[in-house]
Amino acid sequence: MNEKLITVTTPLLPPLDEFIPYLEDIWKRKWLTNNGHYHQQLEKELCEFLGVKYISLFSNGTLGLVTALQALKITGEVITSPYSFVATTHSLWWNNIKPVFVDVDPVTLNLDPAKIEAAITPMTTAIMPVHVYGTPCDMDAIQKIADTYGLKIIYDAAHAFAVKKDGESVLNYGDLSILSFHATKTYSTIEGGAIICHDEKMKQRIDYLKNFGFADEVTVVAPGINAKMNEVQAAYGLLGLKYVERAIESRKVAADKYKDELKEVDGLTFMADFDNVVSNYSYFPIFIDEQKFGMSRDSLYQKMKDNNVLGRRYFYPLISSFSTYKGLPSAGVQNLPVANKAASQVICLPLHHELSTEDLDRIISIIKS
Ligand SMILES: *Cc1c(COP(=O)(O)O)cnc(C)c1O
Repeated sequence: MNEKLITVTTPLLPPLDEFIPYLEDIWKRKWLTNNGHYHQQLEKELCEFLGVKYISLFSNGTLGLVTALQALKITGEVITSPYSFVATTHSLWWNNIKPVFVDVDPVTLNLDPAKIEAAITPMTTAIMPVHVYGTPCDMDAIQKIADTYGLKIIYDAAHAFAVKKDGESVLNYGDLSILSFHATKTYSTIEGGAIICHDEKMKQRIDYLKNFGFADEVTVVAPGINAKMNEVQAAYGLLGLKYVERAIESRKVAADKYKDELKEVDGLTFMADFDNVVSNYSYFPIFIDEQKFGMSRDSLYQKMKDNNVLGRRYFYPLISSFSTYKGLPSAGVQNLPVANKAASQVICLPLHHELSTEDLDRIISIIKS
């Protein structure tokens, strides 16, 4: 096998020569972390870019999730989706909160609002939905439930950078939203993340919490953590902002070609296009119906691999099937039929800004042959 390896994603690396002047300036300033010049500038530019009011940068998205739960003082039980990256549920575990899994909607693969109420108990304090693959949750329905039962909403928006619904950033919904800027995401600061909030007091509180709880030199207001983003990564992020729109445009071209050429394939489906949604084309999941497609999902995954094309079975296995969580009453397969089915059928195809037409043709022909 000597064909070029095609990976599921590739990092959005800005030109190195454009990064060097940032490094030279950081060396000159001798200020490497703790709310430095580039940190402040990136928070400001991200607010403008994303159309949000307050953003607090983090060293990664997982610590953003963990800290968001601390900021809202969430305890007891939290309703969440099993169809996500494992960090979503881990953030609850790290806060001593019991995850309660609710099944997903078959069209969006996001938390199904119709099934949330049945999972609410006197211990429930919050809902943690995920905008999986960047598809917006049914945010109005979820808000209505939260209002009725007095629950907080923390969105895992790790996939939803720059996603809009009805012209409005999805990050403006709920109490808090968390982004991830990991190297594999559409927009990256190598490792990194952020919490988006809607008022200055909350922003202040989150900023204390990510810096050990320090409010000033001699005052510690809470048992905070260290989750600060450093200057080198903030500068990398600033430069990345200049390239991310073009990268999303290239992703769209690839996603459109997949849709065009795979739509007639028997036993293969992909996500619908949603009305009034500005997508970031962060993933291209396909779903394989073994009977109709004539081959199992895992066989297709392996066949792609044998041909030097790496897909990813995101999100398989389901979070609810991992050893930490599988004993929970809500983790049973019968409670989560839609999520289990999606997990058994999914392959995320390669999708990034450097895929050429030849790469895409190769991937498509492997799937079709
Ligand atoms: C990537 C991801 C995270 C974790 O973010 P990190 O920055 O890697 O810590 C959390 N949730 C989801 C849905 C993710 O995809």
